[in-house]
Amino acid sequence: MTAASQTILIVGASRGLGLGLVAEHLARGFDVIATVRKPEDEAGLKALPGAERLTLHQIDVTSDADIARLVAQLSAPLDIAFINAGVSGPKSVVTTDADTLNQVMQANVFGPIRLAHALLGHVREQTGTLAFMSSIMGSIAENESGGMEVYRASKTAQNSLARSLWLTAARPFGITVLSIHPGWVRTDMGGSGADIDVATSVAGIADQLAANAGAQAHRFIDYTGREIAW
Ligand code: NAP
Repeated sequence: MTAASQTILIVGASRGLGLGLVAEHLARGFDVIATVRKPEDEAGLKALPGAERLTLHQIDVTSDADIARLVAQLSAPLDIAFINAGVSGPKSVVTTDADTLNQVMQANVFGPIRLAHALLGHVREQTGTLAFMSSIMGSIAENESGGMEVYRASKTAQNSLARSLWLTAARPFGITVLSIHPGWVRTDMGGSGADIDVATSVAGIADQLAANAGAQAHRFIDYTGREIAW
């Protein structure tokens, strides 16, 4: 199979890494299905080189209705479903109200995982991949500062549910699950002082998606392929 015939879905593509992943995969010849929350964010995507191979949908990952509508609109089998959407949230679990804490967990954990379960029937068996944008901050083993505790906990929980999803719903069909750390990247979330630019991160991520196709495992890796301790 050539890259030109492959299809990737990228959820959360309005800006930052999601937008970069769309540009990278269009440049690599993929058919790309991308989602945004706001219609006004579609213009930038439509202006990308290769956009004649781009299909757009609108979805908020925290909405069950949006998830059901998106899944009903998909027809092509997906070689890769990449759930990139996420928020950084408040710094402290102590000084933040419960509703705000819950919103972070809905956006980073329950929304992405429920969407992933809904998408699984569309992911190609044996060779397909379901990827989550995790973070090294989700690693308990590599947590040496304690900061960003709410965000950390959300990505740890996402990793845990991704493992359960793989064991119960993806592995029986040979579908690979990847929890990916993109590096510390200069985006609205990562800030201008981050280590690497979007182009470097998404090129590395695209290489890892290609390298892990058909692995039929659940791996926690960064954009260079480094295995991260859980
Ligand atoms: P960003 O520039 O803030 O972009 C976040 C993206 O997620 C936007 O497209 C946003 O859409 C979308 N999004 C947020 N909540 C959503 C929801 N409920 N439903 C649908 N889409 C939603 O951040 P980024 O740096 O590109 O981050 C992308 C992913 O990488 C996140 O999961 C983040 O946790 C992860 N990550 C980033 C870094 C880093 O250094 N940048 C490091 C580790 C992990 P709107 O435009 O509509 O808000």
